[in-house]
Amino acid sequence: MTEPSTAARAPRRSKPATDPRPGLSGLPDGALEAWVAAQGQSPYRAGQIRDGVWRQNIVAAEELGTLPAGLRGSLDRAFRVDTIAADEVTVSDKGLTEKTLHLLSDGGLIESVLMHYPARGRREDGRPEHRERHTLCISSQAGCAVGCPFCATGELGLGRDLETAEILDQVRHAARRLAPGGAHLTNVVFMGMGEPLLNLDRVLEAVAALSDPHRFGLGARHVVVSTSGVVPGIRRLTELNPQFTLAISLHAARDPLRDVLVPLNRRWPVAEVVAAARACARTTGRRVSYEYVMISGVNDTDVDADALAGLLRGDLAHVNLIPMNPVAHTPWQASSPQRVAQFAARLQQGGVGATVRRNRGQDAGAACGQLAADRAGEPPAPTVAHRRAVIVRQSEMALRGDRSAERLPADLEAAVAGWAGNR
Ligand code: SAH
Ligand code: SF4
Repeated sequence: MTEPSTAARAPRRSKPATDPRPGLSGLPDGALEAWVAAQGQSPYRAGQIRDGVWRQNIVAAEELGTLPAGLRGSLDRAFRVDTIAADEVTVSDKGLTEKTLHLLSDGGLIESVLMHYPARGRREDGRPEHRERHTLCISSQAGCAVGCPFCATGELGLGRDLETAEILDQVRHAARRLAPGGAHLTNVVFMGMGEPLLNLDRVLEAVAALSDPHRFGLGARHVVVSTSGVVPGIRRLTELNPQFTLAISLHAARDPLRDVLVPLNRRWPVAEVVAAARACARTTGRRVSYEYVMISGVNDTDVDADALAGLLRGDLAHVNLIPMNPVAHTPWQASSPQRVAQFAARLQQGGVGATVRRNRGQDAGAACGQLAADRAGEPPAPTVAHRRAVIVRQSEMALRGDRSAERLPADLEAAVAGWAGNR
């Protein structure tokens, strides 16, 4: 049985104007010190402001009680202390999942999801086998250009890249929510809205701030960056020898089907994606996670399981199987629990480790991109019918083994253009 959600709704606001002030949490190293010096203030004031941002998770300059009022006013005029107002919080899964819809300064909406995992098991010494965890799933873009047909964010198209501070302020908001109970964020995953590797510079700046002991101070090993397969981006990450976990949203091991499920596959096919991920795992010594959304009758057959096992066998890899959350504009349903279990067993027999994951927040319509898509409004019925017809036609072709001859959609072509000549 599902639990009714509790939605704390803020009063509706008119669309705010774009705010030109930089976000405080996204400032590059040394910028705060330079600003404090330019105000004629002692250097230790920069440390007080940084503590306010990263220890107190302040959302307004007036919370900085240790600063003189004049400096607080100057800070407020120069920077946005908070770049993402919390607009609506939806609680589900008996309080274990909290999804926040954030309002950007230009009126755009993004989502973050805070998931609580209570301690489990008990060791002989009385300590828990698995410690309590608090994982935050964050967005890197408002919307997404990749347009995977099973994803509510893909339905929205790309709004824009998030600024570094807009990425980091999602983390500060969650830390602020946890603080009164004495809890801390233990993991951050880039699995919300957007394709992180199509906003890579800012994502890397955000990861650097998260792992910096003087800023958020979370070990990079507790961060996951997920991509739908931007191969040059994976190669660039590999050169940086990242200590975070790379996750690849695979969803199909065969090109004809992946062309439909992850349209970016028409640019970087599955073998190139896996080769790039394999090279990353060899460089970092860290296991790659492969995400696989299970869609009934589409990508969940034994043939798909065998193709996936053949692709990943022998790699430093692990597959997460995620039953699909139903999305308005698709005709698809999640695979049954039995089919998911059989698929997992077949992968394991084929030499590839697999875990079945439950999609958090499903009961509250709070899966990836769904709240923002709901707010954007259901597309008109003829549009939904047309999209369904296209998906059915394309997936029939794919299941026959025909590759898509379609070009990338124009906005996706534009989004990957930055990587042109960098295949
Ligand atoms: N764009 C990146 C990161 C964000 S998507 C990527 O695709 O990897 C994060 C995850 O949410 C992906 O693995 C995606 O497949 C999953 N997801 C999206 N829509 C879903 C749905 N309807 N049901 C279950 N998982 C979904
Ligand atoms: Fe974009 Fe990821 Fe959704 Fe695909 S699954 S549309 S890449 S956010």
